[in-house]
Amino acid sequence: MQTSEPSHDIIIAGGGVVGASLACALADAGLRVALIDAREPATDWPADSIDQRVYAITCASQTLFERLGVWEGIRQRGVSPYQAMEVWDAAGPGRIHFDAAELGEPWLGHIVEQRVIQAALLDGQRARPGLERLCPAELADFHLDDAAGVSARLGDGRELAAALLVGADGAGSRVRELAGIGVETHDYEQTAVVAVVASERAHAGTARQRFLPTGPLAFLPLRDGRCSIVWSTTPLEAERLLALPDEEFCIELGQAFDYELGAITRVSGRGGFPLRRLHAVDYVQQRLALVGDAAHVIHPLAGQGVNLGLLDVAALAEVVADTAAAGRDIGAHTNLRRYERWRRGDNALMQSAMDGFKWLFASPLTPVRLLRNLGLGTVDRLPPLKSLLARHAMGRAGDLPRLVRPDNRA
Ligand SMILES: Cc1cc2nc3c(=O)[nH]c(=O)nc-3n(C[C@H](O)[C@H](O)[C@H](O)COP(=O)(O)OP(=O)(O)OC[C@H]3O[C@@H](n4cnc5c(N)ncnc54)[C@H](O)[C@@H]3O)c2cc1C
Repeated sequence: MQTSEPSHDIIIAGGGVVGASLACALADAGLRVALIDAREPATDWPADSIDQRVYAITCASQTLFERLGVWEGIRQRGVSPYQAMEVWDAAGPGRIHFDAAELGEPWLGHIVEQRVIQAALLDGQRARPGLERLCPAELADFHLDDAAGVSARLGDGRELAAALLVGADGAGSRVRELAGIGVETHDYEQTAVVAVVASERAHAGTARQRFLPTGPLAFLPLRDGRCSIVWSTTPLEAERLLALPDEEFCIELGQAFDYELGAITRVSGRGGFPLRRLHAVDYVQQRLALVGDAAHVIHPLAGQGVNLGLLDVAALAEVVADTAAAGRDIGAHTNLRRYERWRRGDNALMQSAMDGFKWLFASPLTPVRLLRNLGLGTVDRLPPLKSLLARHAMGRAGDLPRLVRPDNRA
């Protein structure tokens, strides 16, 4: 494959939430963007249905969607704000409670279905003339040329050329593989069982998580009064839970959640996701960058995966826009390194924090159990520490890119 005359400035492989957001942000910076995705997102669905995949969206991610002009489309399609969060340990009395009002915020975040975000982002893409959607289409191969640029070949034989290729193609990234970028991985030996459930008592706009010895069980409040659950457990146990008749599943789930919301009365849309940690050794090469799950996959226990990907989007968009504005090469490794330095350390820190939590709550050792109960209780009684933790979870802490800063300071 020869590098030909550039048809675009940037080619993005993967139009999930992360890739589609990046495409909009880069088009807003005046760049010519090609967005390739294997699947068209859904645009309509039965009114009473809920997507199996839902995200806890942080305030920082909401700010990004507002700046991209897609938040209103998300909000109109249906979101569920949550004002409080409860975390507790099944093996002791320790409990921590976060409240938006204590932080002077209207909410801690929103629970949003993946398809809702994708549909709003599709409207956002169609409204941007500088953005070309190639969908359904698959990236089959590419050729990177240090000086001339990158050329990409699609599965149907079409060829594109640009100064930069971005891999936003998820955990099994073909871009990462073809570029020969290694990964550090760890199999958690856990599967997340997801489902939508109805309960006897109302969720009252609170996200809840109970730590069981086998893994965390989260109840996320949905707009129609039901909850989306993420139940991380051993693969064998997950297999058993997925095979149970609905009625028995509801009984076991109610018990596992210690009847916090009373009995579970209905379940639908059960599915299982094997869990692993993955981190790309490099986020950038000459003419190439990775974002989102293509660069890092974390345990879903704090609901941060897509939020970290959206912080990558804001950081990479800022680096590329600044580089282009200065008249420099947007695909040069030296310029892309700023993005890698900005995001890789933060993402590694979040991965380690998730591993630490997982270990702490899985440990059957009495001193560790006492410590975690003491820890939860102590943090709950220390407002400054609690506020710091909450601000991290809301994406309001650290060195934030312009696109996600609450007041958009330059
Ligand atoms: C059980 C579970 C619960 C979770 N809950 C949360 C949560 O509450 N909050 C949160 O922030 N995160 C959560 N996550 C993590 C979240 O799902 C991921 O971080 C997020 O989906 C990553 O988005 P992405 O766009 O990077 O990748 P993906 O969503 O995987 O999208 C990749 C896209 O690339 C396309 N693609 C792939 N290969 C090619 C190719 N060769 N050519 C063209 N297109 C291609 C695919 O079609 C897809 O559209 C959860 C994960 C799990 C497993």
